[in-house]
Amino acid sequence: MNIDSIFENNKQWIQDKLDVDANYFEELGKGQTPELLYIGCSDSRVSTEELMGAKPGEVFVHRNIANMVISIDLNVMSVVNYAVDFLKVKHIIVCGHYACGGVKAAMQSVDLGILNPWLRNIRDVYRIHKNELNQISDEEKKYDRLVELNVQEQCVNLIKTAAVQKAVRNRGLTVHGWVFDVHTGKIIDLKIDFDDILKNIREIYHLD
Ligand SMILES: [Zn+2]
Repeated sequence: MNIDSIFENNKQWIQDKLDVDANYFEELGKGQTPELLYIGCSDSRVSTEELMGAKPGEVFVHRNIANMVISIDLNVMSVVNYAVDFLKVKHIIVCGHYACGGVKAAMQSVDLGILNPWLRNIRDVYRIHKNELNQISDEEKKYDRLVELNVQEQCVNLIKTAAVQKAVRNRGLTVHGWVFDVHTGKIIDLKIDFDDILKNIREIYHLD
């Protein structure tokens, strides 16, 4: 990717859009009504809109290292609250991916400085699911499973927020856990049983 080619690419993209619809940017400028909030990893291989076939205006996006939903991260919490309370998205997707460098780093005994507190949250996922993970002898399979369990726990973290609890109850907001397989290009729906999780965590995390 040549940095100078970006502006040329952009010109071409504008022309491609206008060739199909002369009012494209007039419409785009009017505002957004996305139905999806996507929370994914910053990994350069997981190019959200492209892999979902989504167009500008269709998906509200937040990305960080290892697609984390951390209750004291003002960034992700602002995105979630804005998307749920103001944009009124119908679905929230947490999408992890196999071969995630963030998850891999959290499996290693190494001091990574400022990344330590961030990755600590993934180590917590490991601790919660230690019994299952320690039974997997193949390191690659264990790593893949931690990616999946991390997605599940970040979905649970979403359900712990008052904004999501309210929207689930009042207007049927749904939370989805997905994994993008970088080896095949496929998006895998983990089909997490949220009703069951919601029931289980309500006793402790019920806010509204
Ligand atoms: Zn990643």
